[in-house]
Amino acid sequence: MKKVPFVTKGQIEEVVKTYPTPFHIYDEKGIRENARALKSAFAWNKGFREFFAVKATPNPFIMKILKEEGCGFDCSSLTELMLAREVGSEPGDIMFSSNETPAEEYALADELGGYINLDDFTHIEFLESIIGHIPETICCRYNPGGVFTMSNGIMDNPGDAKYGMTEAQIFEAFRILKEKGAKRFGIHAFLASNTVTNEYYPKLAGIMFELAVRLHKETGAEIAFVNLSGGIGVPYTPDKEPNDIKVIGEGVREQYEKTLGAAGMNDVAVFTELGRFMLAPYGALITKAIHEKHTYKEYIGVDACAANLMRPAIYGAYHHITVLGKENAPCDHKYDVVGSLCENCDKFAIDRMLPEIEKGDYIYIHDTGAHGFSMGYNYNGRLRSAELLLGEDGKVSLIRRAETPEDYFATFDCFDDYKGLRRQKS
Ligand SMILES: *Cc1c(COP(=O)(O)O)cnc(C)c1O
Repeated sequence: MKKVPFVTKGQIEEVVKTYPTPFHIYDEKGIRENARALKSAFAWNKGFREFFAVKATPNPFIMKILKEEGCGFDCSSLTELMLAREVGSEPGDIMFSSNETPAEEYALADELGGYINLDDFTHIEFLESIIGHIPETICCRYNPGGVFTMSNGIMDNPGDAKYGMTEAQIFEAFRILKEKGAKRFGIHAFLASNTVTNEYYPKLAGIMFELAVRLHKETGAEIAFVNLSGGIGVPYTPDKEPNDIKVIGEGVREQYEKTLGAAGMNDVAVFTELGRFMLAPYGALITKAIHEKHTYKEYIGVDACAANLMRPAIYGAYHHITVLGKENAPCDHKYDVVGSLCENCDKFAIDRMLPEIEKGDYIYIHDTGAHGFSMGYNYNGRLRSAELLLGEDGKVSLIRRAETPEDYFATFDCFDDYKGLRRQKS
C-alpha cells in the first residue's frame, strides 16, 4: 500500500521554527482511530481489553491518549510500572509481563494491583518470597516449543525463545498456585513478532483457548483471561497490505466459539498487549539532509542517527522514506541515507531509489512510532531527540524535550573534578 506521510513539508517548516530536527512526531488522530478499530473488532468479547506494550512508546502523553481510549498498560520493568502509575493506572489496569524479574519489580507490580504474568515455574516461589502471598488472580506465560508455522511457512521459533513455561510446567504451576490460594487464572503467549497476516492471532487463539479448556478440566482452575500478547505487525514496506483488524477479531471469535464456547467457558476475557500495531504507523522520525557525499556510492548525511532509530542498524529493518515536498517526484537517484555514528551500520536506507535530495530537504522516515525513540541510546555521545505530538486540532506540541549535554553528564555527579560537566546546582 502506498505510504503517505501524516505531515506536509509546509507543516514541518513551521514546526522547525520552534523545534529543530531531528525529532519523532506522532499523529493523535491516527492513534485514536486505530485504538477504536481494535476495540470494535473485539467488542464481541465482554471482557476484552488492550494493555498497550509500554516499551514500544514509553511516553506519558501517548499513554494518556490510549488510556482515554480504554487501554491498560503492559509493563516489563520498574520504570515502565512507574510510568503506568504516573498516568493514573488503577488496580486491574496493568499487566506485568516481565522476564528475569528483579524482586522490587514484582513488589511494585503487586502494590499497583497489576496482573502478574509469571514467565517461569520457579517464579512462583520467588514471587511468594517477595510479596508474602500469591495474588488471587495470576497469569502464566506459555511456550509450546518447536517452531510456529502458518500457511506461508515457519513464522518464528518458540523452542529457541527464552520466554515462558513448557506445557507440563504450566499444568503443574496451576496446581501449585491453586493450592497457594490463587482463585482466577490467565494464560499468555507471544509466538511470533511483527506478523503481517490476518492468520496469526486466530491461530494463536486456537492454541491458547484449547489449552485453557484443558487447564480448566484437569486442574479445576477458573480461567479469567487469555492474553494473546503482541505480535500483530505493520507493513513497513509499501508492497505489503496492512492487517485487517476486523478480520482478525472475527477470526479470534470463531476460535472462541469453537473451543471455549463449546466447553461452556463463555466468560473468559480476551486480552491483548499490542505495541507495534498501536503506534508504529502513527510516528515518524523527521530529519534534515545536511551533507551529500560522492565516493564509491552516493551518500546523503542526515542530522539523525541510529541513536534515534536503531532498527535498521540492529535488524537491517526497512523503514520507508519520503522526501517531504518531493512526494510525486521520480525516484531516479540511488542513495545510502546515513547518520553520523562511527559505525558503518548507521544507515537508514541502503541503495534506496529516491528523488534527488538537496541539502536542507526534510526526510520523513515512516513507521517509527513503536520501538523507535524507545530503543534510542547514547553511543558516540549522541543525544536523544525530542518527541512531538500532532494533536487532533492540528496543533503540534512538545511531549518530550530533546536531551542536552547536561543530561548526558548528569550521571557524573559523583566526580567532583568534573564540575564543568555537571548540571548547575543552585
Ligand atoms: C514486546 C512485547 C509486546 C509488544 O509487542 P509488539 O510486537 O510491539 O506488539 C507485548 N508483550 C510482551 C510480553 C512483549 O515483550
